[in-house]
Amino acid sequence: MKIVYHRYNSETCQFEPVFPSGSKFIKRALLYLLLSLLTAIPSVYWYINKYSSLQEQQLIHQNNRLVKRWDKLIKDADGLNQQLDSLAWKDDNRYRVLLDLNPLSPEERVAGAGGNEKIPAGIEDLKIIKDGYYQVDKLKNQMQVAQQSFDQLSEATKHKNRMLASRPAIQPIDKKQLTTLHLTFGTRLHPIFNVLMDHKGLDFSAGFGTPVYATADGRVSMAYYSNSYGNVVYIDHGFEYETRYAHLQKFNVQPGNFVKRGDIIGFVGNTGISAAPHLHYEVFLKGKPVNPIHFFQRDLSQAEFQKIIQPTSATTP
Ligand SMILES: [Zn+2]
Repeated sequence: MKIVYHRYNSETCQFEPVFPSGSKFIKRALLYLLLSLLTAIPSVYWYINKYSSLQEQQLIHQNNRLVKRWDKLIKDADGLNQQLDSLAWKDDNRYRVLLDLNPLSPEERVAGAGGNEKIPAGIEDLKIIKDGYYQVDKLKNQMQVAQQSFDQLSEATKHKNRMLASRPAIQPIDKKQLTTLHLTFGTRLHPIFNVLMDHKGLDFSAGFGTPVYATADGRVSMAYYSNSYGNVVYIDHGFEYETRYAHLQKFNVQPGNFVKRGDIIGFVGNTGISAAPHLHYEVFLKGKPVNPIHFFQRDLSQAEFQKIIQPTSATTP
């Protein structure tokens, strides 16, 4: 079909057909095309910037929700870090002090915190991401230090319990069955030889067969008959404590037995050099005899303790 334009002729006052040449037509077409492009491109650009696609809008919405969730996670991690700070304070100022452990220094508490977790490439410069990774990293570090500290506390507690259980802390004779406690420790006039001799323990007068108790946990190192001590039991408690129980009527343990505090190890007798049924009881610390009176507090009230440490006029057996 041939393209026909009409142009108004002012002389004839009529629209007259005009038949443009082919080249002219092409030039005009190109001009229209160019003008159309110049108008359309900015319009499309403007539209794209102003109105994102549905998919983009969904992504933006999803991204906003993720940012909010991430923000909440950072706050939660920060809250947990504060709780761990509080636990660390208790650890340093209560638990470790009670168990004679030095508090951890601030440097030890934060050792290794920060920078351990690698942030994925592309988001490593975002502050919110860096904050999140820092909080989580700090949390992990605090947990690790707390775990190590609690392991130490656990070991120290076990050690302390073993030490306390190994320390002589009760009377070897039930106070209800005790007739007299002779408090002479050190040099005394021997009741049989009638000469001044060193007395390394205390004498508990009680009837024949009265049970004799181990005063702390330990291992029976010896149980034998001695000419002077009669039937005697030695207990090695560890931690450089040793106790000895002499003049027994008979044994209730053998060398090598492990005993707990309060176990019956023998019975009161009058064997060896002894003038009457009684228990001669000795406590050694680091190989040196110490007065057993200092180890009775555990099973005595203050009034009972004050009463037994009063000097007695009873004759030592
Ligand atoms: Zn004695």
